[in-house]
Amino acid sequence: MTVEADRRLTPQRRAVLDVLRGSTDHPTAQDVLDRVRRTAPGIGAATVYRALNMLVASGQALELALGDAAARYDANTARHDHVVCTRCGAAADVDAGLPPRLANRVAEVSGFAVTGHDLKFTGLCPACKSDPL
Ligand SMILES: [Zn+2]
Ligand SMILES: [Zn+2]
Repeated sequence: MTVEADRRLTPQRRAVLDVLRGSTDHPTAQDVLDRVRRTAPGIGAATVYRALNMLVASGQALELALGDAAARYDANTARHDHVVCTRCGAAADVDAGLPPRLANRVAEVSGFAVTGHDLKFTGLCPACKSDPL
């Protein structure tokens, strides 16, 4: 992510990227639209969705399939993993690191030269864990 690429953004894309960078909860496109409209009330849904696609295509944001129906977006483009709440859908970043022996083992059993990984853990988030229903 270069300053140069940031400068080329249209004001609408800039606004969408700002919302993403200010969010750590991996918002859906609808969430992003709601949040962008707090500062740019007139912005159209199609404009926001197009901006999201463009930011993903240019590598400034990630589109994630975290298990619920809607794609989620993340401005943290560094390699990291996720833990997702099976009750409320909350998604958090984790970077616990993969034990090197596990990567070796995956290479061994698959015959692949393993160059990366993308893990999704599931469980109950702190709020759901302390709420017995
Ligand atoms: Zn939860
Ligand atoms: Zn993330």
